[in-house]
Amino acid sequence: MSNLKLQHLDKIYDNNVQAVYDFNLDIDDGELIVLVGPSGCGKSTTLRMVAGLEDISAGKLIIDGKDVTSMPPKDRDIAMVFQNYALYGHMTIYENMAFSLNLRKENKNEIHQKVLAAAEILGLTDQLNKKPNQLSGGQRQRVAMGRAIVRKPKVFLFDEPLSNLDAKLRGATRREILLLHKRLNATMIYVTHDQTEALTLADRIVCMSMGYVQQIGTPLELYDTPANLFVAGFIGLPPMNFFDVEVKNGQVVCDSFAVDLTAEEKQALKAYENKTIVLGVRPENIVEGGNITVDVFSNENLGQTTLVNGMAKNHKITCKFREWCNYKAGDTVNVSFARKHFFDKETNNAIR
Ligand code: ADP
Repeated sequence: MSNLKLQHLDKIYDNNVQAVYDFNLDIDDGELIVLVGPSGCGKSTTLRMVAGLEDISAGKLIIDGKDVTSMPPKDRDIAMVFQNYALYGHMTIYENMAFSLNLRKENKNEIHQKVLAAAEILGLTDQLNKKPNQLSGGQRQRVAMGRAIVRKPKVFLFDEPLSNLDAKLRGATRREILLLHKRLNATMIYVTHDQTEALTLADRIVCMSMGYVQQIGTPLELYDTPANLFVAGFIGLPPMNFFDVEVKNGQVVCDSFAVDLTAEEKQALKAYENKTIVLGVRPENIVEGGNITVDVFSNENLGQTTLVNGMAKNHKITCKFREWCNYKAGDTVNVSFARKHFFDKETNNAIR
């Protein structure tokens, strides 16, 4: 267990590409932090700076009170799990898991105990004599985690560990990682481009875009009170609907609809009277019944819910209804917005 302080971290690669700008984060003992954002936003670079696989261009990295900014990876006591499991094909699962401990010339007996304990935690006890190619993708991923666990590192780093697995296995392995986190009480940093993984795994999420941290908070904070348009559009699936609207006489108005504001919303939008702002509405916050008419063009049944895509006059809109619906292209459905988000059009920041 360990705490980390990432202070004003910058990364500028040799070709002068700046991948990370002024990254700041304090990570508590035993916390599971997920770095999330689209490809190229600087997540892996940040993780690799923590691991020591990339030099830190500016800023400081402190682990358990010790400045490790310039320390080589092997001295940082960190274990990294990658998406390509990087197992040794000619070794058994046991040998794979014992490998780093053997390198360190640890006592054979202790190595044996550590491997058995990790195998037990990961449900790999019956697989120890097999070779990696006799295991499924999910099992191989667990071996990769096992190799990290036996080392009892201060910090576990995960770089998109599930992206090679099919959807069903991804869900199952995700739950295993959560369980593992609970059992080990370990500090973990997990990188993914998948907002579902971020929402389901994280104690706190760090959402990034183009090298900048956009918001840090619990999954609920990012979902319920996104700091800006980027986070609002990135967290949540299907994504939030956005409309340019004008604030007018207690309503927000566009060419497709006029929607009444609550007293609280009026208060928040006081300074925006007669101005254009962005209205954000999550598909699951759109309910059947109301004065906004949607011309349906598709209906997707997901079992418990239905996605209904259509046009509110000139605006494309996606609604997520809570029951099985059978709208057809050409139908109309009247809806209203149960919860609204507002954003400043110039700064892109949330209006609270
Ligand atoms: P992510 O993990 O979010 O997909 P990365 O951290 O891998 O993003 O990359 C962030 C940015 O840094 C991208 O623009 C990428 O092209 C650039 N980059 C990554 N690695 C290198 C490198 N070794 N040299 C130069 N630029 C790099």
